[in-house]
Amino acid sequence: MAIRKLRFKGDDILTKKARKIEVIDEKIKELAEDMLDTMYANDGIGLAACQVGMLKQMIVYDVTYIDEKNPKKNPHVLINPVITTKSKSLVTVEEGCLSFPNIFDNVVRHEKVTVEYTNLEGKKVVKKVKGMESVCIQHELDHLDGIVFLDRINKGKYSIKYEK
Ligand code: ZN
Repeated sequence: MAIRKLRFKGDDILTKKARKIEVIDEKIKELAEDMLDTMYANDGIGLAACQVGMLKQMIVYDVTYIDEKNPKKNPHVLINPVITTKSKSLVTVEEGCLSFPNIFDNVVRHEKVTVEYTNLEGKKVVKKVKGMESVCIQHELDHLDGIVFLDRINKGKYSIKYEK
């Protein structure tokens, strides 16, 4: 178990595209474990690899842990995730981000998406998600493209891409 150092607003790495993971080796498994440790330690529900300084296409999340009625951990690790379908219906949810402490704002997302990814065992997975899980996956996948949630709201005003 290791908690890694988070990258924050203004860090260039948050604006960069992540690279595809070709081989799931011990280093990748360790990164996944550390990302989950870092996420839980900071009370987050999702984390992308770039937020701990790694430009790799990996995200972790657990949207059940925040629910106090269900405090059981249910961690997910998604390698090379791609969203393949998006619902027309949209939802607006107040989002935050571990790289932007104390900033929360409403973001419009697709209510349902299908995500395809490779799991830690190297198996291909196709998963249909909705609600909070869908919102969380869209937020984290944006990170892999160098996009942060504030970019979705008011590009230019908050965007770290335009702030030095
Ligand atoms: Zn984030």
